[in-house]
Amino acid sequence: MFCRNCGKEVHPQAVACPSCGVPPKAEKKFCSNCGVETDPNQVACTKCGVSLANKASNPFQGPKNKLVAGLLGILLGGLGIHKFYLGYNKEGIIMLVVTLVGGTVTCGIGYGLVSIVGIIEGIIYLTKTDEDFEQTYVKNQKPWF
Ligand SMILES: [Zn+2]
Ligand SMILES: [Zn+2]
Repeated sequence: MFCRNCGKEVHPQAVACPSCGVPPKAEKKFCSNCGVETDPNQVACTKCGVSLANKASNPFQGPKNKLVAGLLGILLGGLGIHKFYLGYNKEGIIMLVVTLVGGTVTCGIGYGLVSIVGIIEGIIYLTKTDEDFEQTYVKNQKPWF
């Protein structure tokens, strides 16, 4: 890829550009794919067509935040929102179904049980270190607890 600050070629995993010292994706002056000059407001490169939008601004696509996941689990655990946040769509749907269907049949007991699971998971998230959280839930995608 190309450094978005100076337009020089740079390794995709590089933390800082060897030519200018700036993180290669921090600026928006050059296209990361072809190295052509770009306007900071451009969302796509006019030369090669690659998307230049900054995806990190969307909290559901950027790096997962332990605090957000933990609070979602504790506050909205019964709806499985923290599962959806972490990208566990299957587990999120299971929690949602148990809450909605199970909760109706059992007069709220299903919702209570799922909420407890959410609270426990939220507390587990919050007690982990950032590295632990990242390793367990973002990289390994551990589905429960
Ligand atoms: Zn550079
Ligand atoms: Zn380009």
